[in-house]
Amino acid sequence: MEKLIPEILRGKPCPVYCPICQANLNSKNKNSIKCLNGHRFDIADPGYINLLAKPYQSPHRDLISTGKALTENGLFDPLESELLQLLYAEYKVASTLTILDAGTGDGTVFSNMLLCMQWDQYRHQAIGLDNCSSAISMAATKSQSVLWLLADMAEIPLKNGSVDVILNIFAPCKYSEFYRVLRPGGLILKVIPGPLHLAELREDITDDVPDIATGFFSDYAADLKQTRVQYQKTLTRKEMDWLVSSGHSLPKKENDNTPVDQLQKLTIDCRILSGRKSDWAY
Ligand SMILES: [Zn+2]
Repeated sequence: MEKLIPEILRGKPCPVYCPICQANLNSKNKNSIKCLNGHRFDIADPGYINLLAKPYQSPHRDLISTGKALTENGLFDPLESELLQLLYAEYKVASTLTILDAGTGDGTVFSNMLLCMQWDQYRHQAIGLDNCSSAISMAATKSQSVLWLLADMAEIPLKNGSVDVILNIFAPCKYSEFYRVLRPGGLILKVIPGPLHLAELREDITDDVPDIATGFFSDYAADLKQTRVQYQKTLTRKEMDWLVSSGHSLPKKENDNTPVDQLQKLTIDCRILSGRKSDWAY
């Protein structure tokens, strides 16, 4: 069975380059893709390109599966709606748009948003990138409109200024790489936890969130905006355990004898930081 690679690599300028020598990727066969200098990269089942030079220690697949189920059950729906509005504002006015979801995880949120926008893969380019093979493997089953890449988040294998919009949702990032791959005037949408995020699982609630007055957003971005998204969801204890043990790791309250499977409310509190790459800083 031919592995599914979207139109992004068929006839359009390809923003992806070889992570070893930065040459164009210029030839593809059924199972691999090759750069001008002969470096070859596998097209893995069910349809993503493995551009990772060295293996990354993936979280346990079961953990990712649980997270995927949780996201599919709507944990982040209100956040997704807010992001969608911001994204759609770009999409509806662009003749072509290249969007990168950096740290796409299992791809659920990204795929949902593209579906809602009625993403036209023949005009636009969508790239989902993650350094976890288990996650990107699941993502690749979600949408055939996305070019899914297993690649290094710290050395993104995309050309300078090749991306119009970067999404970065609860994922680590290297701002200098975002700055490099984003075109001047391009938009970055970064989601970070707010002060009350997962408050029910935390000992102390503080207002200790990253100071966006420093770093990328103040140094290199213009047109800065913050949107706070806050809501509560009813979850099972199993779902809460997943949140604690997977990236949203925060200390559990002591003496918490909540019975397993008892439904509880959980607060989701996040901030969407948006800014455009300043022309003057380019
Ligand atoms: Zn190469």
